[in-house]
Amino acid sequence: MKSKSFSPELMAPAGNLIHLQTAIHAGADAIYFGSSQFNMRARARNFSPDDLVPMVNRCHEAGVKAYLTVNTIVYENELDDLRQLLIQAGEAKTDMVIAWDWGVIDLCQELGVPFAISTQGSVSNSAGIRLAEKLGAKRVVLARECSLEDLRQIREKSSLEIEVFVHGAMCVAVSGRCFMSHELFNHSANRGDCIQPCRRTYEVTATDTETGDQLIIGEDSIMSPSDLCALPFLDQLIASGVHSLKIEGRKRSPEYVQVVTGVYRQAIDAVMEDRFTPDRIQNWMEQLGTVFNRGFSSGFYLDIPGESAWSAGPSNQSAWHKEYIGKMVTTPGVPGSVSLKIEARNALRHEKVVLNSVHTGVAFFDLNWKEDQQEAIQGTLVTPDAGLNFHPGDQIYAWIMDSKGDKSE
Ligand code: SF4
Repeated sequence: MKSKSFSPELMAPAGNLIHLQTAIHAGADAIYFGSSQFNMRARARNFSPDDLVPMVNRCHEAGVKAYLTVNTIVYENELDDLRQLLIQAGEAKTDMVIAWDWGVIDLCQELGVPFAISTQGSVSNSAGIRLAEKLGAKRVVLARECSLEDLRQIREKSSLEIEVFVHGAMCVAVSGRCFMSHELFNHSANRGDCIQPCRRTYEVTATDTETGDQLIIGEDSIMSPSDLCALPFLDQLIASGVHSLKIEGRKRSPEYVQVVTGVYRQAIDAVMEDRFTPDRIQNWMEQLGTVFNRGFSSGFYLDIPGESAWSAGPSNQSAWHKEYIGKMVTTPGVPGSVSLKIEARNALRHEKVVLNSVHTGVAFFDLNWKEDQQEAIQGTLVTPDAGLNFHPGDQIYAWIMDSKGDKSE
């Protein structure tokens, strides 16, 4: 029996159909995804407008809400395509479009498509939320730069739905206000095309104007923030009355979606049932560390980010990565039965394996080993013993712990 009255929505990212199915199985209440044209993850594997109906249907059949992100700046010559996309979003019964360009907001109003103001709009106070409400927005995704105290005060003054990020990448710049990538490489962050100059390594030198001596101040990734992780204080976030907790990461691996969504599902339920204990938090943090992360910080929630909020390295700190082994095929001569065809390399008995399927998402399982068998040879067929529902085309990977990390962005 739940002991608190309001459980916030858990929103997970989907960059492809495997993500979508994984997020559903891992316990997401809502899933957000982008169209291939107008969203902040141009380099993510986005969906075409024709995918909208099947994707939204798949979410709705599972009792999960489906949100479409249309959160880039839109130019004049794109308005016809935008209108078409929003018409399709409405016809597909998309639960909400996440936007901040005035043209998108205007078209959503005209077409009667429910919309939220994206975090790219940098809404950071209750006055901004009042304006969003007057415009007909259903929800505001607060700027990541708001503190927990800001959030509490905003909730006291506003009844509009508030969504906040709980996990994932942070920008060194204020949300929606970074021009580094545009300036340096002509790839605009505000068009979903950031190539992340902030994550690179730089040598910064200070020159003494009298002597000409140079002092090297930093020669690493001096602008790369750690990832946000609100899990340790999730109870406080929920107590603030926030409506939706969002996980960042449409470009991450399906394993990231599974682990992060699954952990936050358990944590939200634990908060609601007064089981949010230090032991559980520690266990969840260990799980979160197994998938892509740049180290974790509390972002702006508890304080202005300090020294510990910077990433120790330019990229991933997870010690796990996956290697392709093979795919499921119809077993020759046995219609309706599937086997794993070992393709890329031998599968080793001690390795954990993971399924990636557009039908069932991600699942970790064991292969079916004979007593003295140590490996399954490349080119052979193996019958997995997992109690899972396999389909032809499902891909199987080894999940390996080493220093390489989860590089499957
Ligand atoms: S360059 Fe870095 S700080 Fe700027 S938008 Fe891209 S990821 Fe964010």
